[in-house]
Amino acid sequence: MTSLTRAQTSIEELKGVGPETMKELSRLGIVTWEDLLWHLPYRYENIAIRPVEELEHEAQATLAGTVQGPPNVKYYGAKKNRLFFRLFADGHLIQVVAFNRAFLKHKLQPETKVNVTGKWDRHRAQLTAQRIEVGDADETRAYAPVYTITGKLTVRQLENWIKQVIRQGAFPEEALPAFLRKKYKLPTIAEAIATLHQPENAQTLKNARRRVVYEEFLRFQLNIQAYKRTRRQNEYAQPTKIDEASIRQFVQALPFALTDAQTRSLREILADIQADHKMNRLLQGDVGSGKTVVAACAMYAVVSAGKQAALMVPTEILATQHAESLADLFRPYGMELARLTGSTKTARRKEIHAGLESGEISVIVGTHALIQDTVPFHDLGLVITDEQHRFGVGQRRALREKGNPDALFMTATPIPRTLAITAYGDMDVSRIDEQPKGRKAVQTYWAKPDMLERVIAFVRKETAAGKQAYVICPLIEESEQLDVQNAIDLHAQLEMLMPDNSIGLLHGRLRDEEKETAMNGFTGGDIDVLVSTTVVEVGVNVANATIMVIYDADRFGLSQLHQLRGRVGRGEAQSYCILLSDPTSETGKERMRIMTETTDGFVLAEKDLRLRGPGELLGQKQSGMPEFRLADPVHDYRALDTARQDANTLLDAEEFWQHPKYQPLRDYVQGSGATSGEKLD
Ligand code: ADP
Ligand code: MG
Repeated sequence: MTSLTRAQTSIEELKGVGPETMKELSRLGIVTWEDLLWHLPYRYENIAIRPVEELEHEAQATLAGTVQGPPNVKYYGAKKNRLFFRLFADGHLIQVVAFNRAFLKHKLQPETKVNVTGKWDRHRAQLTAQRIEVGDADETRAYAPVYTITGKLTVRQLENWIKQVIRQGAFPEEALPAFLRKKYKLPTIAEAIATLHQPENAQTLKNARRRVVYEEFLRFQLNIQAYKRTRRQNEYAQPTKIDEASIRQFVQALPFALTDAQTRSLREILADIQADHKMNRLLQGDVGSGKTVVAACAMYAVVSAGKQAALMVPTEILATQHAESLADLFRPYGMELARLTGSTKTARRKEIHAGLESGEISVIVGTHALIQDTVPFHDLGLVITDEQHRFGVGQRRALREKGNPDALFMTATPIPRTLAITAYGDMDVSRIDEQPKGRKAVQTYWAKPDMLERVIAFVRKETAAGKQAYVICPLIEESEQLDVQNAIDLHAQLEMLMPDNSIGLLHGRLRDEEKETAMNGFTGGDIDVLVSTTVVEVGVNVANATIMVIYDADRFGLSQLHQLRGRVGRGEAQSYCILLSDPTSETGKERMRIMTETTDGFVLAEKDLRLRGPGELLGQKQSGMPEFRLADPVHDYRALDTARQDANTLLDAEEFWQHPKYQPLRDYVQGSGATSGEKLD
């Protein structure tokens, strides 16, 4: 900032602000005129004047009229009082009641013009006032701002000070170049702020909001993108030389053709691997979208360039499954693959360590056992983390620090695009937003528990036709506190109810061999029905399973239900998901309805976000999620995306670093530390 703008003037320099009020204002974070201007209303009241005939009983309404006869005040104790007066408004005589407004009495002389906003009681023809504007109110105003205030401050004072600053024209510096304002039809910052405090109509209010939101996002994105670029320059990495032709062959040898989205994601990943900076990429794709095979291609690329690749997964089951399917893919190329988990025996573990150290083992698949200090690598080129949200930030970092490899994080949590931009601000994001061809959407039904017999009949019919089913319940064994289904009892019950079927049991408390037996039995088709807790939630892939029954489904969040449902519908046959539940809460019911209405993970994520808020969806508080004054990354996601693109275009342009019209934005970016590679707040 070259010189202080007038907006930086202290609030001292306002009529009616003394030491006391300064203290109160500073508690609201208001020290300068600019702070005052940014103390925006948190909502607006609709004060459009309406004819009496149109008012609805018990709804809020605004009437304009004149005072009839003298007002009356009743006092209750020292501070409480009630003010009454009669209002003549378009031909009707209305009673107005207002609490604790005795001070208005002398102003409400007969024939005085007033606008009153309040709750309308049709039977009594009475308005209980929240807002009384005395005198010639501007009758064209449709909205009244509502502000947060504290202590002894009054809304009147606040409005008055804001008006003083607006009248002086002491607005913050205009940061948006004219061409951008023109492109999006945005008002100037002065117009926008004035409107936000004193909106004339819905349209100008909307535009003022758009303006502020866009600028907030643009600043945010300029920061993030500038930071990314700087870090990239600072983090030079020896590029990995990959052999395109050999990768093409590997892809062609796959049992299916990659979808366009898979191809696009793979191309983005390979570009990172070949670039002279470290990959730091998030691969997002709904369950079943085929992330694993993309990961396999990336691993193949790195290994054929002479380096090692590691895949870290959250559970033993998943480690086993990935290890097996990857081994099948890599075997023809003579790539040595090993699996390392918590249950790997000491002797085998030593062998694996030796193989990793010598470079003999080129691909390692494992759980967090992989990041234990003692695991040595010869030349680790790529680390992939599956279901990355299941790992703590620390665990992920630990693996990355083993030789600073390229890092790819995979997630099936369909974080809305824009939220991903904010939450994972400094990561690049690839999205597989398309399912392999021929997949049929899973048909989802919500059934009350008393329909169990019909559900079982259906499962028997499907299994008789050679299909398999999962039955999921929340608990492992009976609980005294919770009246919900448990896996052990249900397993016993189903064995009785389905004598012709072979029923398996899987839960977290089984020994590893038992888990493996159950899982292998199901994968191999010897088990028809697998009763399980949510250990099968992530990644497990059995294409012949077409039924997913979820007991007490309302106990799970939408994202988790979606993950579970994603275990079926992996082959060509029609699959079904049956939610057994009788929720008592409204959100529980809402969740069941949403599940039956959509199979789109991104739609579900948006809804989940609205039901639960971003904090819970993202698990822990993620860095890079700033607080905005007005902008809401979920609601305003289009603006966020636009701002991201614009930020990149600006940063790419030579002109941005030179032309005076970019001075304010440039100062902002350079002042934030983004260009010097310091960590952003
Ligand atoms: P997720 O993204 O949930 O991890 P997976 O990688 O487990 O999905 O893939 C789900 C299933 O889809 C696997 O059986 C996989 O072999 C298969 N698959 C992946 N890509 C394709 C494709 N392009 N065409 C057909 N099937 C595919
Ligand atoms: Mg997966």
